[in-house]
Amino acid sequence: MAKKIWIITMFPNFFTPLKEVGVVGQVFQGLRGDKIDLETVYIPDYSERGFKGVDSAPYGGGPGMVMRADILKNALVEGVIKKGNYSEENFKEELSIVFTAPRGKVWSNETCKSFAKNYFASDSAKDLVFICGRYEGIDERFIEKYIDEVYCIGDYVLSGGEIAVMAIIDSAMRFSEGALGNSESALEDSFEQDLLEHPQYTRPAVFDGMEVPAVLSSGDHKKIEKWKHDKKVEMTKLWRPNLIKKENK
Ligand code: SAH
Repeated sequence: MAKKIWIITMFPNFFTPLKEVGVVGQVFQGLRGDKIDLETVYIPDYSERGFKGVDSAPYGGGPGMVMRADILKNALVEGVIKKGNYSEENFKEELSIVFTAPRGKVWSNETCKSFAKNYFASDSAKDLVFICGRYEGIDERFIEKYIDEVYCIGDYVLSGGEIAVMAIIDSAMRFSEGALGNSESALEDSFEQDLLEHPQYTRPAVFDGMEVPAVLSSGDHKKIEKWKHDKKVEMTKLWRPNLIKKENK
């Protein structure tokens, strides 16, 4: 599995909580599953004029600024390939370079699982590099030359790729071997079998006069399983009817 995730960004601080908090933080700290390192590469360190030299006005005019391909290349070559001791000629054999943008493949449960299989399964060897766009985006020539995969996390525009990259890492990590305490729980969650999860209850047995459905305390596992499945179908019909498959209609 990927041993290292590099993130090329204008705002490395975004990733501090990702490395420290929750189950994903535990993976990056080596407390859960196979250890994966996360290292941020600060783009202004690779521009002669620091923060100010990273972007420039778009050719052809128009609003905003575009991130320069040469600066992003410097950050990739100096900050990742050389620093990480990857082959300067054949780095593509060791690294997959991922960008996020509205044009990308839509990030869904399916894309997420296949991404996790490619990068977080034990027999997958490539490390990952994420490029976080900012401003109006990045020079097309950098995308053409260096980017292997592009993902879009939804049909709306973010101010930068950092939050998209965090969503991708967090959701894919849930399918990585050993990262979740209970590997079955990811497969029980919403979107599996194209259904939402059933409602869940815990103590107290009575809350503000509302009781837990009696079947859940019946001890009859067959009945409980049937209740869970029926509720999944009911919840999906109610909240996300677009997900429902024919056999559940
Ligand atoms: N001008 C661009 C938007 C730039 S937003 C356009 O109209 O398409 C700045 C950066 O945020 C983008 O380069 C991209 O990396 C990231 N971004 C914005 N929306 C996103 C989304 N829905 N999914 C993933 N990344 C996104």
